[in-house]
Parts: sequence; C-alpha cells; structure tokens
Amino acid sequence: MSSEKRSGEFEVIAHFFAPLAKHPGALGLKDDVALLRPKPGYELVLKTDGLVEGVHFRKEDPAHTIARKALRVNLSDLAAKGAQPVGYLLTLALPEWVTDDWLAVFARGLADDQGIFDIALLGGDTDRTPGPLTISITAIGEIAEGKIIRRTGARAGDLVFVSGTIGDGGAGLAVLKGEGANLSAPLRDALIARYQIPEPRLKLGQALVGVASAALDVSDGVIADFGHIAETSNVHITIDAMRVPLSDACRALWGTSNEAVARAATSGDDYEIAFTAPPAKRDAVMAAAQRAGTPVTEIGRVEEGEGVILIDAARMEIPIKRAGFTHF
Ligand SMILES: [Mg+2]
Repeated sequence: MSSEKRSGEFEVIAHFFAPLAKHPGALGLKDDVALLRPKPGYELVLKTDGLVEGVHFRKEDPAHTIARKALRVNLSDLAAKGAQPVGYLLTLALPEWVTDDWLAVFARGLADDQGIFDIALLGGDTDRTPGPLTISITAIGEIAEGKIIRRTGARAGDLVFVSGTIGDGGAGLAVLKGEGANLSAPLRDALIARYQIPEPRLKLGQALVGVASAALDVSDGVIADFGHIAETSNVHITIDAMRVPLSDACRALWGTSNEAVARAATSGDDYEIAFTAPPAKRDAVMAAAQRAGTPVTEIGRVEEGEGVILIDAARMEIPIKRAGFTHF
C-alpha cells in the first residue's frame, strides 16, 4: 500500500501502527484502551509532549527523524526523573500532504527507537486536520515507589551538574538556518544530528536515583531550566561559564567567549540532564556517570536566595538577554 496518497484511518492503524504495538497491554490496538500494570513496588511516571509542524520541526525534515525526536523528547523527561520507559501513546493530526509513503518512514523511525529503548506503542489516535501536522506522544515509565527525582530537592550548598555538552541542539538549529557555512561537513552534521535526534540520558538518570537532590532535562536552555529548579526549590543557583561543557563542534561555530557560552546556555534542545547533589555525594555522582557511560561536569553551586546567574572567570555576572528558548 505504498503510495503518494493516504489510506483511511483503520488501514493506517493496521498497516503502520499495529506492528509497533508489541506489548500485551496494547491489545493489538484492537480495543478502545490499553492496559498497564506496574511491577510490584513500582509507580508509573507519565509525560506528554507534542511537536507541531512549523514550530518544532519543518515539513521538509525527514519523517524518520521527526518520529524519533517526538519520542525522545518524552523519554528525556522520564530519564531526568530516574524512570525506566515502558511504552507510549501516540496521537497524530494529519494534514492532506501526509501520504502513506511518509507514514511508512515515520513508523520506521518509531520502530528503530522502540528497539533501542525497549519500549512499545500502547495506543493512540489518528485524525485528519486542516492545520499543521501535529504529533503528540505520551510516554509511560516506571520507577521504584518514592524514588522519583523531583525539581524541588535542591538545597543551599549543593553542587550543580550537567551531563554531556551544552548548546549543540541550538547550534544544530543555527546551522540549519544558515550559520557556520565555513565549518567542515562532519562538524555541521554532528550539530544537526544533536538537534534532530537527541539522546535521552536514561542510564544516567536511573544511576542518579538516590544521588541527585533535584533534576530535569534541558529543553529550554541550561539557564532557564536551572531557573525552574531554583524556583521550585526556593534557592539561588550560580553557574560558572568557564565550566559549562561545550563540544568541539559548538566551539568551532560560536567560539569560547562569554557571549558564546551565554548563547549555548540559553539555546534549547540539549536534552541533557541538569541536576544538583549535596557535596557529600560528589563521588557518587561521578560513579553514576561512569556506570552510565555519560560524561558529567560540575558547573556551579546552589546558594540561598532566588534565580540563576552565569558568572565569568572574575565572578562577575554575565548579562543574559533571554534565559531560554520557548516554544509557546
Ligand atoms: Mg523537561
């Protein structure tokens, strides 16, 4: 049924999505609902996040990477809470231009990531729309009762950490918009890949259970997201610009000035884990990073007060024009 037209709803579900529903609770997508029972002693962690054509992705982006990003931004939230993903619900609003061929590539993107993350489609809904293509995913994970890492637990004296490197997602978007024409193709591709296919830090998040005092995933930008922790935990956070980890590709694009770090720390789409931990847990943080195979960098300190500041080598505040990127 590969074609440049689109089949009816039931054919679309049977052909493209039923094969993804490899979980007994999905009931083969043949009922109105899905069933899910957490392991004894565990609780479910739920997250929903949508991608809208023209807001979060461009129509001309590959369907394969759109599918994977839609899934991964949700898995990234589960990761930062310490949860293990189980499955997801998928709601699609499809405009006229979405064909069976497009859906086949989209479904293959989901199938590839289901294999990587050991999850399955549990259910969903497919509608027609006169508006933009909209992909809404609800990811479901599980975690041992009471173990979730909240935003609320940061305390004065805690250390501030971030996984991986910061700014690559925003740099990838900048490259797609025409910046960095002088960069080598491998560097440009590396940045674009970081923007299009984020890496949810699931192993690290699970290793940080019982270690991190507060955590979230970086979607709006490091400054803005630590701002969320500062606000919900009622603390002040100072981030040392010199220690913010930038990739070689990001340095090649933006340099290493204070302004470059400020840009990296305020561009979104990193999908790294930003977290705090008490000083007594510093070794445990590094052991968790090693176990997960994910680099972690200490970049600041939690103090009494409110808000987030970025400071330079002389401990002077670096002015921030806009804390982060918002899709709203
Ligand atoms: Mg988040």
